Amino acid sequence: MDKRLFTHPLPLKSVRITDGFWGNYQRKVLNEVIPYQWEALNDRVPGADRSGCIRNFEIAAGRAAGEHIGWVFQDSDLAKWLEAAAYALVLRPDPDLERRMDETIELICEAQQPDGYLDTYYIITGLDKRFTNLQDHHELYCFGHMTEAAVAYYYATGKDALLQAMIRYADCIDRCIGPEPGKLRGYPGHEEAELALIRLYGITHDEKHLRLAKYFIDERGQSPLYFEEEGRRNGNRFYWRDTHYRYHYYQAGMPVRAQRNADGHAVRAMYLLCGVADIARVTGDESLLDTAEALWKSVARRQMYITGAIGSSHVGEAFTFDYDLPNDTVYGETCAAIGLVFFARRMLELRPRAEYADVMERALYNGVISGMSLDGKRFFYVNPLEVVPEACEKDEGKRHVKPERQKWFGCACCPPNIARLLGSVSQYMLTAREGAIYVHLYIGAELDASLNGQPLSLRLNSGFPWQGRAELTVVSGSASGRIALRVPGWCRYYTLRVNGRPADAPTEDGYLLLDRDWQPGDAVTLDFDMPVTRMAADPRVREDTGKVAVTRGPVVYCLEEKDNGGSLHLLRLPRDAAFEIHDEPELLDGVTVLTAKGLRRSAAWAAEGLYAPAEACEEAAQTLTFIPYYAWANRGVGEMCVWVREA
Ligand SMILES: [Zn+2]
Repeated sequence: MDKRLFTHPLPLKSVRITDGFWGNYQRKVLNEVIPYQWEALNDRVPGADRSGCIRNFEIAAGRAAGEHIGWVFQDSDLAKWLEAAAYALVLRPDPDLERRMDETIELICEAQQPDGYLDTYYIITGLDKRFTNLQDHHELYCFGHMTEAAVAYYYATGKDALLQAMIRYADCIDRCIGPEPGKLRGYPGHEEAELALIRLYGITHDEKHLRLAKYFIDERGQSPLYFEEEGRRNGNRFYWRDTHYRYHYYQAGMPVRAQRNADGHAVRAMYLLCGVADIARVTGDESLLDTAEALWKSVARRQMYITGAIGSSHVGEAFTFDYDLPNDTVYGETCAAIGLVFFARRMLELRPRAEYADVMERALYNGVISGMSLDGKRFFYVNPLEVVPEACEKDEGKRHVKPERQKWFGCACCPPNIARLLGSVSQYMLTAREGAIYVHLYIGAELDASLNGQPLSLRLNSGFPWQGRAELTVVSGSASGRIALRVPGWCRYYTLRVNGRPADAPTEDGYLLLDRDWQPGDAVTLDFDMPVTRMAADPRVREDTGKVAVTRGPVVYCLEEKDNGGSLHLLRLPRDAAFEIHDEPELLDGVTVLTAKGLRRSAAWAAEGLYAPAEACEEAAQTLTFIPYYAWANRGVGEMCVWVREA
């Protein structure tokens, strides 16, 4: 591995998003999500589940009396909010928000114990029990999220109070957990500390942080299994004992380097793989890179929905087996699609390859933002591809699927997670190294970059996701080097122009390579053909046989009852039906809608009973109206499906 070829995102403040589509989402995060979630964390949203997050810190800091509220991982909700709010400060300075964050960080530091320990659940319920249930009690997960918040806040403001607190907590963990005699030979039940320690290491360059992260990866799944010993020693309940998951639920069924199938809880798997890829990058460890690549294929080529959702079973919020992708009982947690975006960006850092960016784009434009309502106030935890509202109510196997987004969950992992990703979307659109800039996502932005040490200001304009045009202009600076532009996997024909003239460029791993002396005013224009496409699934995906999903560019479409009437299962899309493309600026915050002449099978049934000899069924013409999947469930409750029968 040549580490000089690794790329990295530009600093947060070097990218200013100007994009219509993502700018709109970022405004929602700034204006709706962050203020709303602050109210939720403070238990001030009428009708929403109680969070208790701030209250727990007040109790832990001795400012209030009472019992711990919520889950053992409740602290992570505040951590993710702080991280999202830190990105918000970069997007738009806000002294009031910053003051509130400083006060909150003061409260967090006040709750920290003299030896650095910082987890409100055990501070309130009994410190003698800390680190006794690494398998299920999420202390290291909460540590990881608070560390990510500390890193983000440090980059946003230069203030390091929370960072120093988390360095003290890392020291405390390092004194208690590790391979040395006298320490607990444990690791996180819910991964996250690994990737967070690497982010911390990026600032501290303290070998201790890298060593601890690497230890967590290397010890996981080793025999004798720590979780088994821990359970025996402390009498912990093993919830997954009688399931086929057992320790695979925690990706601990075998050593990490030996794993070749993504298993168990999908969010945990993604966070683990982020840590694996990060450590491969920092240390140049080939075997970890092999593991990351194998598990990437297991997820992206065999266990991922067309929307970028992952985790097909609600039992364990987990992967099941290859090509098992039911549309109506899926879990597809918003956090898991977000985790897939995190993992994809890390794979791109190791090697710019369009497959990674294709999946990142698929998840972002579909299975991630489907998690939030267009007003930024309601959230999906589960992201189904097919919904019949009555089944969500009366079929216990589908009760986890909701036909409308919810206000705030008692377990509120997804809402602040989506906020921190949207707030930092600039960290996913491009990565760079010494002599090259790789554009992965066509998101409008102004960039302060450099090539071979020479500063270069760039502007990227894009019509994505509705139009396939992207323009990159050099605003100022002169530099020689490579700008590499991704050709999306969905695009078969494109034209490239440099300074208005048709141009040719070699491609490598799905990127157009433009090597030249860049001068102010230089402009690269790409026109990606963006036709409506009927997508089929691998025949091994049983649920999608005989059906197609309609896509255009990066956007996956769906049918909703609102436009097409109920009983969506009676609709069929003829193979030769032509699509009409309609721009609807007033609909669903501005979308492109697709229509086609389809068929509706008659619901008439002459027989008395449920079954009768089959006869030719009658079908009538009906226009089918497709809207972007991410925008479903914003106009009331009704049926929805992504995969439609072909005629
Ligand atoms: Zn979640």
